[in-house]
Amino acid sequence: MADRDGLIWLDGEMVPWREAKTHVLTHTLHYGMGVFEGVRAYKTPQGAAIFRLEEHTDRLFNSAHILGMNIPWDRETLNRAQRDVVRENQLDSAYIRPMCFYGAEGMGLRADNLDVHCMVAAWSWGAYLGEDNIRNGIRIKVSSFTRHHVNITMCRAKANGNYMNSMMALQEALRDGYDEALLLDTSGYVMEGSGENVFIVRDGVLYTPDLTSALDGITRRTVMTLCDELGLKVVEKRITRDEVYIADEAFFTGTAAEVTPIREVDGRAIGSGTRGPITERLQSLYFDQVHGRRDQHPEWLSLV
Ligand code: PMP
Repeated sequence: MADRDGLIWLDGEMVPWREAKTHVLTHTLHYGMGVFEGVRAYKTPQGAAIFRLEEHTDRLFNSAHILGMNIPWDRETLNRAQRDVVRENQLDSAYIRPMCFYGAEGMGLRADNLDVHCMVAAWSWGAYLGEDNIRNGIRIKVSSFTRHHVNITMCRAKANGNYMNSMMALQEALRDGYDEALLLDTSGYVMEGSGENVFIVRDGVLYTPDLTSALDGITRRTVMTLCDELGLKVVEKRITRDEVYIADEAFFTGTAAEVTPIREVDGRAIGSGTRGPITERLQSLYFDQVHGRRDQHPEWLSLV
């Protein structure tokens, strides 16, 4: 990943990819206190465009605010940096990774003498959970790892350290032969995937966990808006594991995962055991939206 051509935006400058380095005493590397985003740009008829850029940048600033971290740039600069890395790396579609982290100016938990550094990289990244899985759905298992408690790590923040939990859950699922993990919260209710929000469908109504310890996903919000436009009802509520087992359909949403059908949970087929019709409808609408093939919500696409 580090050894390639290209440019990365680092602290206000475009730096050659191989030279975008940081010291081993980088504070965030030691304690995990940093914030980041995962954003996508898509090929549209007008050229590459970043999907819901402002919302992602707002979430980055909110994450930093939650952690008490002061980002030394304004939103417009970081938005411009994201457009610039896509354009300067000549990408017509991309995954974009902005991150703000504490530097190597000092060590220890007091962290009162540290600078906040910011980087933005972009690269080509296809379907996160696999092209085939986007069509046919994935097999998942309920994780033995519990999603964070809301008062242990701050779940509304997309914070680096939070992802230790996600990685352990995903690696366990992969080791056991599944494609993804489904994490329950500390009370045992369904919360989210390692990097995705979850929806189930039953009798034509969509259900998704209300946001307690789940990340406030931008794809989740997008899907809820699309449901509204299709006249589909979405209910946010506590969901139990066995409700997922008997759902007609289930799917994950996320910037990386987009809309990924779930065809099996803990060895039990969901509905027909393939991508369900409502999932398929929402998935195709989502792809039309991000690729600029719909007239609605032009404000969601920022041309680079
Ligand atoms: N939950 C977690 C834990 C995530 O990491 C992500 C990916 N950012 C999501 C949900 C989905 O969020 P979004 O749709 O904004 O990518």
